[in-house]
Amino acid sequence: MTARIIDGKIISAELRGRVAAEVTRIKADHGITPGLAVVLVGSDPASEVYVRSKHKQTQEAGMASFEHRLPADVAQAELLALIAKLNRDPAVHGILVQLPLPKGLDSNAVIAAIDPAKDVDGLNPVNAGRLASGLFALTPCTPLGCIIMAKQVHASLEGMNAIVVGRSNLVGKPLVQLLLNENATVTIAHSRSRDLPALCRQADLVFAAVGKPEMIRGDWIKPGATVIDVGINRTPSPDGGKDKLVGDVAFAEAREIAGAITPVPGGVGLMTVACLLVNTVRAASAIHGLPAPAV
Ligand code: NDP
Repeated sequence: MTARIIDGKIISAELRGRVAAEVTRIKADHGITPGLAVVLVGSDPASEVYVRSKHKQTQEAGMASFEHRLPADVAQAELLALIAKLNRDPAVHGILVQLPLPKGLDSNAVIAAIDPAKDVDGLNPVNAGRLASGLFALTPCTPLGCIIMAKQVHASLEGMNAIVVGRSNLVGKPLVQLLLNENATVTIAHSRSRDLPALCRQADLVFAAVGKPEMIRGDWIKPGATVIDVGINRTPSPDGGKDKLVGDVAFAEAREIAGAITPVPGGVGLMTVACLLVNTVRAASAIHGLPAPAV
């Protein structure tokens, strides 16, 4: 049987709708407009696309959007001074520095300089530590999106066997923490794991965040499993046209075995920006001592 497609377009649109409703309520009840500041250093074309999409979606959700562009050769001190200014700005509730930064800039130092209360990317070590400790934390957006997608298929993930392939600070590690919070049993695999196909075959939930086009094959999937593909890989089109986007999972094979699967494009990628909006509303509420929003 062919797998059910977990449609990022529909799920992210619903989520953005819920965020917009919360923004309207917070404005009406408290006179607060949640604000997101995005900092783009240099002019990497992929980053430009992401920043434009974040700006548009932030405005569509009724939030304030602030864009700061700096040249690729900006001094680290100047970038840190901008972060300090945004940390102090009461109209800004979320700060996102678009990664990767151009060569010569220390992204760890930049991430650490963001006020943890405004760290909507959830990458500051304070938020990573809080998440691992089971405390309130702003959580990286892509893993948050992965959990929302898995829960479209399974109302509860409790007791399920999950595998996360990839252990980056951006995706794999925070995803493991979120899955533990959902009471799943989690295996985290990486480039040194032995017999990855066998590990994957044991999983009811497969999360692929590797960055290798179609590495996870159909026969690695347990029949009926739910597959969430985080990978976004550009591969040259066979006919020499525009590059093709493919995930880390061999979609055509896996959809014949899995119970449910996310497509690429049209899957997790769309959830990431929607979850950024969620984090901005959460941050604004927490900063102003309001109850957690219903998103
Ligand atoms: P990283 O390169 O930071 O991490 C990749 C991870 O995969 C590492 O932990 C690495 O292991 C592991 N890995 C590499 N090769 C293998 C292998 N052969 N077998 C098993 N594990 C392997 O990538 P990210 O986490 O940042 O991103 C992963 C993918 O997700 C990329 O395709 C990226 O484009 C995409 N992405 C998509 C987003 C979205 O919005 N949908 C957002 C962020 C990322 P080790 O640690 O041992 O080196």
